[in-house]
This record gives sequence, C-alpha cells and structure tokens, in this order.
Amino acid sequence: MLEGLIQDYQLTLPTMLRRAETLYGYREIVTRKPDKSFHRYTYADFVSRAKKLAVALKRLGVESGERVGTLAPNNYQHLEAYFGVPVSGGVLHTINPRLHEDDLSYIVNHAEDKVLLVDGTLMEVLESFWEETNVKHVVIFDHSEDPVPNGMTSYEELLADADEEEFAYPEFPEKQAAALCYTSGTTGRPKGSLYSHRAIALHSMMVALGNTLALRETDCVLPVVPMYHVNAWGLPFASTLVGAKQMMPGAHLDAYSVIENLEQEKVTLTAGVPTVYIPVLEALDEEPENHDLSALRSMIIGGSAAPKGLIQAYKERHGIDVIHAWGMTEMSPIGTVSTLTSELLELPEDEQLDYRAKQGYPVPFIEIRARDEDTDEFVPWDDETMGELEVRGPWVASSYFNTEEGAEDFTEDGWFKTGDIVSIDEHGFINIQDRDKDLVKSGGEWISSVQLENALMAHEAVAEAAVIAIPHEKWDERPLAVVVLKEGQEATTEDLQKHLQGDFAKFWLPDAYEFIEEIPKTATGKFRKLALREQFEGYQFAQS
Ligand code: AMP
Repeated sequence: MLEGLIQDYQLTLPTMLRRAETLYGYREIVTRKPDKSFHRYTYADFVSRAKKLAVALKRLGVESGERVGTLAPNNYQHLEAYFGVPVSGGVLHTINPRLHEDDLSYIVNHAEDKVLLVDGTLMEVLESFWEETNVKHVVIFDHSEDPVPNGMTSYEELLADADEEEFAYPEFPEKQAAALCYTSGTTGRPKGSLYSHRAIALHSMMVALGNTLALRETDCVLPVVPMYHVNAWGLPFASTLVGAKQMMPGAHLDAYSVIENLEQEKVTLTAGVPTVYIPVLEALDEEPENHDLSALRSMIIGGSAAPKGLIQAYKERHGIDVIHAWGMTEMSPIGTVSTLTSELLELPEDEQLDYRAKQGYPVPFIEIRARDEDTDEFVPWDDETMGELEVRGPWVASSYFNTEEGAEDFTEDGWFKTGDIVSIDEHGFINIQDRDKDLVKSGGEWISSVQLENALMAHEAVAEAAVIAIPHEKWDERPLAVVVLKEGQEATTEDLQKHLQGDFAKFWLPDAYEFIEEIPKTATGKFRKLALREQFEGYQFAQS
C-alpha cells in the first residue's frame, strides 16, 4: 500500500472546544431557567467554565476513561459538562431522570460513575436512588439559594475554586471514549453505547452537511429533545462545532414556552419528538396571526414516526418545513434524514409529501440494508418487501459497554441490527413499518412489554398477559395489557394496576386492560404479538 501523505490529525472534543474559543467567543447561549427567566452568556463564558470544570474534575480524582454522570435538563451547565467532562479525559454519562429508581441505581453502578453532576430541580430523583450507588462526589447545579445538602458540593463553588490557567488542551487519540448513553432493552437491564471522540466529531460534521441538517454559524438551535436522550441528537456538539447560537429550553417543554422561545430568540432550527410538536401545532393553529416564526427554517422530528398530517399541516398552515429523521442510541444517533433530492423535488407536492413522511435516506458514511427474517436474504429496494434494517458506519456501536449481553444485535460481518422492520425504496428512503423489539415508545420514552408481562404473570390470578403498543394521538403509543385469567380466579383492572404500581415508573403502567380467553401463540408457544396487534387494531382507550 502506498500511504497518503496526510497529517495524522485526531478528531476530538478538545479540538472542537478550542475552535469555539478561538472563533466564536461572541456567540450567545441562552437558557430558560426554572423560574422561566432567561440566562444569557457567550461562548467565551461557556468555554471558560467548561475548562474550569475539567480542572475541577481532575482535582476530584477523575482519571482518563472514568465516568461522570449528569442528571439535568437542557441548560448551560449541562452544556459545560458536555465538553468539560470529555476534555478532562473523563466520559460524559447522561442519565435519563424519568427512569425508575431501580434502573437509575443500576445504570449508575454499571457505568461506575465516580461523580454525578445534578441539577437542583432533580434533587428528588437523586434522593430516590443515589444511596444505592458507589458515587464518590455529588455536585449540584443551580442550588444558589440554600446551602447544598451535606456531603454534596455546589457546582458554582467547585468552579470558583478551579483555576482556568491550570487547563491545557490535551491531545487524545480519537478512539478514546467520550460519552456514554444507556438504552432500554426488551428484556434484561439497560445497555450502554459508548461513543468515541472521533464518532462525535464525525457525527457533528455530518449534521452540518447541506444534505442533512445544514447546521451553520448563522443558525439559532433549540433542541427540545432532552440532553439525556442520545446527547440531544448530537445538536449541542454540532452547534458548538459550527458556532451556532444555542437556546436551551430547561425543563419547560410545554407548547407555550416552546413557541415563546422560538419567537423571541428567532430560532432557525429546532428538534424533538412528535409528542412535543403536536401541541405546538395546536397552539399555533389557535392564533396563527399572533405568532411570527418566520426565522424557523427547519423543524426536525424523530424518535417516533412523524405523522404525514403533521408535516403537511406545519407546511400548509404555518410555512414551516418539517424534516423527518431516524436514528438510535446505538447510532449517536442520526442515521437517515428525509431531505429531498433534486429528482424528488420535481415531483408534485403531494408525492413529495409521501417522501417527506418517510424516515429518509442514509446520511453520508451510514450504510443500510434490510434482511428478510425468514430467508436471511437482503430484501430488494422496491418500497414493498419488508426486512430488519441493518446499519454500519463510523458512529454506529460495535458492541455494548461492559456486558456480553446484546451480542446477538451485531451480525457476523459487523453490522448493527436495529430491530426496526422497514421497506426501502429505489431512492434509498426507508419506511419504518413495524418494530421487532417488544417495546412501546411513549412520548419518546421506552416501555418494555416483556417486563410488564412478567410482572403481570406473577399475579396469582393471571395465567397469561401480553402488552402491546396502541397508537396514541398525544403520546405516539401507549401500552394495552391483554390478560387471560386463571380458571376460577378473578382480578379487576384496578387490582392489576395496583399490583404493578411502585415497581415501574408511572408512565409505564398500561392505559387499559382487556380480558380475553386466549392469547394467540406460535407453534413454539410464543405470543403472536402481530396477531394480537391486528386483533386490537383501531383500539381506542376510554379517555384518550
Ligand atoms: P432510541 O435508541 O431511544 O433513540 O430509539 C431508537 C428507536 O426509535 C428506533 O430504533 C426506532 O424504533 C424508533 N425511531 C426513531 N426515530 C424514528 C422515526 N423517525 N420513525 C419511527 N421510529 C423511530
């Protein structure tokens, strides 16, 4: 091989932070605080505080590769951690505060988080699990009014004691781990995807490409998707790389606050799950003349399928372009984006809409294929034949963190099996038709059918229980429990609901129970969920 004569330049977060410091010091970062007032500062302030955090973490004894957990909404302190932790050599582990306390303690222990950075608004969540963990230091953001509880440290005091001059931009190998996100499994415990500096750097560059989200310095970006959901789809990293203004919504994700943020800060690009943007559309529809969202060029919707009607309504009634995207925790997360090519833009509007409603075609360096589950052959790209989507690329996981579990999710030739059942058309656009994973996705959060089924079947009156996802206007999907009672036994909806309470996060509890004679099964005795879903097609929850 004749090697190219190119510098062996490493793609890392320290380089991204140094670039932001050198070039974008003037650019603004705005946060909606808990009291709804606006906190404003510049990239210069952000970089200085991220460096101080890196110095402070070193002082706390965080060594290269050690994990630092965060439990926080989208705010400037969280952004400081996004960079401060990885540039210190540590690994940023973003934790989803909506999980059940058992999962929270499991994740923190499995990740071996040495330090937790916690927002003052999430003290109750912290208290529900942290005594079950081996965390060495708990640091609290924004707890200025009271002294922080005993044994914990104030973030502001920690930064005040750190000397920025002690910081020197490190040179890391790009393969070093930078961030860790856990994803809920169907069975078993959540599993971690461990991202490298290189994966994050390349994913950030991809987000800036014209054919994807075209992020640039002149943008103002509002990620409504939480920073604990796959790094807010990589937007805080990508925005910092290109020097875009960042608008952090804090915990205020209601339609009114989102619209206020969009309008006031002249947001150009926003991103989130359908559950957030459906009420935003309703609020805009109520008084369209009172809102000016003319600055908004793109609304990225993903995490669950963006309904075609929603995409159409935003465009026709408010002139807003919705871009549908698909991704996964195991993919850092973006895999496909539904931006139309020159060829497709020549189609009539209604046909264009059909493509916009698909999940899109693969972004550069992501390769896709779909495999027929019965024949094991790859399906043709004919827009009809369905198969399980497999992917590979420079920001796709190669295995899970610190576990043998999940090895079956990777093919022998190293592709990742997504568990999404798709058809692919001749243009490479995927259409997600079903899910092989036994999970319900409610408001962007996973609920494991299998865990609910096992808990229900532990009830003395229950012979069989299957939990299926029912489409829901507000939450995308909600769980329905289909139950067969043991002969001669009785149990009501209330009994079963009570039986589950406490063991699961509240939003996991089924919205309804249906009692039937028998659950359809395969020859090997497994529940035929597909048949059950067909049986309950069009099912309406009483109060939905
Ligand atoms: P997560 O790892 O929590 O980000 O979830 C990833 C999963 O969410 C995918 O495997 C899909 O099942 C689902 N998903 C993500 N984006 C979309 C989308 N645009 N349409 C339909 N399902 C989606």
